[in-house]
Amino acid sequence: MTDATMNITHKDKTSPSYTDNHTISTQHGITRFPDNYSGPICVLLSSTDEKNLEKLNPVKLGKVLTKSFKGIINIKFISTKRLKITLDIVHNANLFLNSSHHSENGLSASIPSTLLFSLGVIRLDINVTETDFWDSLECSTEILSFRRINTKRDNQLVPSPFVELNFLSTSLPKFLSIYKVLFDVSPSVRSPVQCAICLRFGHTQKFCRSKERYGHCGLAYHNASLCPEKYTFPPICILYNLNHLSTDRSCVEWTIQKDIKKIMAVNNISYSEAAAIKRSGVVNSAFSYAQVTNNYTLIRTIILIMLKISLMLIMLKILTMLIMYSQPVLIL
Ligand SMILES: [Zn+2]
Ligand SMILES: [Zn+2]
Ligand SMILES: [Zn+2]
Repeated sequence: MTDATMNITHKDKTSPSYTDNHTISTQHGITRFPDNYSGPICVLLSSTDEKNLEKLNPVKLGKVLTKSFKGIINIKFISTKRLKITLDIVHNANLFLNSSHHSENGLSASIPSTLLFSLGVIRLDINVTETDFWDSLECSTEILSFRRINTKRDNQLVPSPFVELNFLSTSLPKFLSIYKVLFDVSPSVRSPVQCAICLRFGHTQKFCRSKERYGHCGLAYHNASLCPEKYTFPPICILYNLNHLSTDRSCVEWTIQKDIKKIMAVNNISYSEAAAIKRSGVVNSAFSYAQVTNNYTLIRTIILIMLKISLMLIMLKILTMLIMYSQPVLIL
């Protein structure tokens, strides 16, 4: 491993509370698509100043960007602070990524992490150190970071027997070896993220744009000390109007969010893409999206075969009728 890679490793978070951002690309300083890249060509343009994008008129910004850069296919606002830009070819995307235009305007361009990286987990005894790992690692895919997952026990962080690795590839290798011992690699499924301010899922309080709500009554603009209902009424979940706290893990939303996280991990896609798949009802449980598409192909093939059989039956019937009608003529 290079020194640069090791630095990145130590920069990584040690807390078990996973964050949901996908900014690994900027952390690792990868600002170019590889020449042999063949996936979707998208870049993110984020505001480095809190309110920058909100102030901008989308059409005005589109005009500036399409006049300044070649090959823009479309521009999509994905949040108040971030745009997703699809370009035609890698060369134009790399020119876009490395233009000084962005920093001069309080913006920064990056490659979405899901287009470059994937997160995998291995089960590794807590006595195996990170140094041991890097010293003896053999893997078909380059690994950029090592992070021992900690769990909370009695309010104390305790190392778990799981390590999360960031692979420089959009698909995970099946296994890797440490001192020639093979370890299976599985997708890293992260915990759902619930905002401590608005109690909704999918973002942390750092990115919250909504008003604060109190978890007991679900009402806005007050907290535990100001809630008149805290001791007199049962809690109300703001998501389903049921009698439990909005943060209760028995809430059905928690299960939905866990499925979204599984879809994200298995398919290496963003939160919004995974949430759209889950909400569309295409996926009932968190199995692979590819599996869903395979099922669709199977259903389509069955329907086509059934149609062909029905068509053959209809033709057979017509033929029988024709023969029946032609018989009297023959008799005559
Ligand atoms: Zn929020
Ligand atoms: Zn209240
Ligand atoms: Zn609920």
